Amino acid sequence: MSTENAATFDCPECDVSAPSTSVPYDSLGYVVCPVCGYAATPDPERSPSADGSPSTGD
Ligand SMILES: [Zn+2]
Repeated sequence: MSTENAATFDCPECDVSAPSTSVPYDSLGYVVCPVCGYAATPDPERSPSADGSPSTGD
């Protein structure tokens, strides 16, 4: 059995799942949701959250 794990696009907006090969892409090459039109663009401003509490145990 040869099962090909094709990449799947999961839309965070409408929660639809579709094979990446059957979804449209915008001019920038990002996946566009075929249902709601959500473009999977990365966040332009992604600050590294320094939200780590140094818990070295007790
Ligand atoms: Zn969608």
